[in-house]
Amino acid sequence: MSAPLFGRVALIGVGLIGSSLARVLQRDGLAGEIVACARSQATRDAVARLGLADRITADPAEAARDADLVVLCTPLSAYAEIARRIAPELKPGAIVSDVGSVKGAAIRDIAPALPAGVHLVPGHPVAGTEHSGPEAGFAEIFQDRWCILTPLPGGDDAALERVSLLWQAAGMKVVTMDAEHHDMVLAITSHLPHLIAYTIVGTATDLEETLKSEVIKFSAGGFRDFTRIAASDPVMWRDVFLANREAVLEMLQRFTEDLTALQRAIRWGEGDKLQELFIRTRAIRRSIIEAKQA
Ligand code: NAP
Repeated sequence: MSAPLFGRVALIGVGLIGSSLARVLQRDGLAGEIVACARSQATRDAVARLGLADRITADPAEAARDADLVVLCTPLSAYAEIARRIAPELKPGAIVSDVGSVKGAAIRDIAPALPAGVHLVPGHPVAGTEHSGPEAGFAEIFQDRWCILTPLPGGDDAALERVSLLWQAAGMKVVTMDAEHHDMVLAITSHLPHLIAYTIVGTATDLEETLKSEVIKFSAGGFRDFTRIAASDPVMWRDVFLANREAVLEMLQRFTEDLTALQRAIRWGEGDKLQELFIRTRAIRRSIIEAKQA
């Protein structure tokens, strides 16, 4: 048997993404040892019950001690404190990575704390579901999806290569780009759609009682698809919008302008304008299906 890709791997946060990564590491024998760090006793108990790690601790510093790879898998708002706590325990040559949905803020909060000789390789596996916690994870979640790595200028190539191999083993197609570009792309492909879903479901919830029951009853008309997205983890998404503020506000501005144009077309009975847009958007859906990302 060949040697595992990493010796000791520490997963800080073992929710949907962290536990899915643990399952991949176990399935493919990619780690000599898996150390899981979870904040609550309930999560630590679940990780033990599911047998997802060799060791479980509540202390990020203890998890990171002598680890070859440390992956932050918590909501973004926890990053700065975790980075501060793990820093003194990191051995020279260790790799620190993460799975956060916003990369500029991740780098801002982790990089300054890390000692020289430790390599930061920020990452974002663009895969997920609306569920949370270690029970919700599964190894196949990453299969055929994209993983975006946002290495820092002058970063260590060997570290980048090893993190890349990890996500490829998980079944992902890996691409690198700079953090700012990542945050702009994700603002329109992921963050704005979530904001719209939260808004629509919120608006419907505010409707008076009779209408609300009708909304649920006839949800198959389109509303249902939004409720799935709007059921996503509240803490994670609060953090995403705060961490990617500039890019989300920029995309929201464009969206608002386009919405106003549609509003005007409806008001003035300009059916051709509506149809023109709907034809273009249908083509986008077809290309997503062709790219096997549906
Ligand atoms: P999750 O299922 O809610 O799990 C979060 C984990 O982080 C839990 O183990 C939780 O521990 C721990 N945690 C939360 N707050 C913490 C704190 N202040 N200090 C230490 N640990 C803390 O979340 P997730 O969906 O896996 O998301 C984790 C990260 O992945 C986020 O940064 C998110 O942006 C990114 N991501 C998510 C998706 C997705 O679709 N969900 C996709 C790609 C990337 P307890 O259970 O003990 O509280």
